[in-house]
Amino acid sequence: MNFYADEEGYFGEFGGAYVPEMLFPAIESLRTSYLAVSKTSEFERELRELLRDYVGRPSPLYWSPRLSERYGCELFLKREDLNHTGSHKINNVLGQVLVARALGRKRIIAETGAGQHGVATATACARFGLPCVVYMGAVDVERQSPNVRKMRMLGATVVPVTSGSQTLKDATNEAIRDWIANPNDTHYIIGSAVGPHPFPSMVAQFQSIISDELRDQLLSQVGRSAPDWIIACVGGGSNAIGIFYHFLDNAEVKLVGVEAAGDGVHSGRSAATLALGSPGVLHGSKTIVMQDSGGQVLEAHSISAGLDYPGIGPQHAHLSVSGRVRYEQVTDREALEAAVRLARYDGIIPALESAHAFAWLERRQIPAGAVVVVNCSGDGEKDMATYLSFVEQGGGSAIE
Ligand SMILES: *Cc1c(COP(=O)(O)O)cnc(C)c1O
Repeated sequence: MNFYADEEGYFGEFGGAYVPEMLFPAIESLRTSYLAVSKTSEFERELRELLRDYVGRPSPLYWSPRLSERYGCELFLKREDLNHTGSHKINNVLGQVLVARALGRKRIIAETGAGQHGVATATACARFGLPCVVYMGAVDVERQSPNVRKMRMLGATVVPVTSGSQTLKDATNEAIRDWIANPNDTHYIIGSAVGPHPFPSMVAQFQSIISDELRDQLLSQVGRSAPDWIIACVGGGSNAIGIFYHFLDNAEVKLVGVEAAGDGVHSGRSAATLALGSPGVLHGSKTIVMQDSGGQVLEAHSISAGLDYPGIGPQHAHLSVSGRVRYEQVTDREALEAAVRLARYDGIIPALESAHAFAWLERRQIPAGAVVVVNCSGDGEKDMATYLSFVEQGGGSAIE
């Protein structure tokens, strides 16, 4: 079974590039050049130095003594929350900014949900002196105000999007509209492993640094280069594909992607795309989409802005259908409890997105003694208001 893209950007039946004609040239130049550009030794050296000296990589692999005891396994956290700007998003953004520069693009646009991708993009644009416009749903502008302030501080223009559900899907539509209007001078930095080919493969390549480091760290910390289990949350799927990447062909490694069930998978308020969706085209690729019987894309709901998306990257759609990765769903409440638990057990406050991955551990499906890695994709500072109101209402009080 092949888990990577073919020439046309298909992962099994999913993927491809479904874009308006106006975007053909921009997508085509990206498709034909990004691999060649990103494989030059000059590019590799510059990216490696940025990831080391600017982002702070490698991100630590941290063994949690108390969670290991709770779950009866050897539990490790891959600490993407410690990256500059507080999440894994910067890994992809720096790679794409270098690609944009090599292609002579002078202006950067992006969409953002939680604001993490917007902050990472605004940061990289400041570093390279590039103008930056970030599209963000008006609802997300409201609930993620610390990140909006950071983007403005960094010199980016934040455009609130008031169409549709005023969240990530609508911000993405607006960014695509901008790119169609400015295809020659602008590069659109997509923030997840979604979109038309070559974006899903390019984003996966830049995020694969996570599993690349993980192999070396496991070897030196536990004496073997592969874990038994890897758990990651899935919005569009970039942190998950990054930590799965180098283990996809090793069937011994069990991979779990955790989607946001919101109020519950069948509550009508969830973002559980793989549980509820069906094949369709969204944001330039064929994938699995939450849609009604008429093909209308449904609104997603999750307490976590970064997982509040009615689609998923095409590679994950394929990994799901092929059975290579198990996708499971946890609710808002389970995620909030898991965030409080991690704070109390390890003194680490995770992003709400990452908290979904930790919440899955409570399902107790891990056999005793297994080596388990959870991707701690981001830092919880942006979610402090949500956490505090949960705790003030008695949430997490049962955590011993
Ligand atoms: C954006 C974000 C996610 C979700 O995006 P993926 O592309 O699925 O990784 C998860 N965690 C954090 C911290 C994020 O900022």
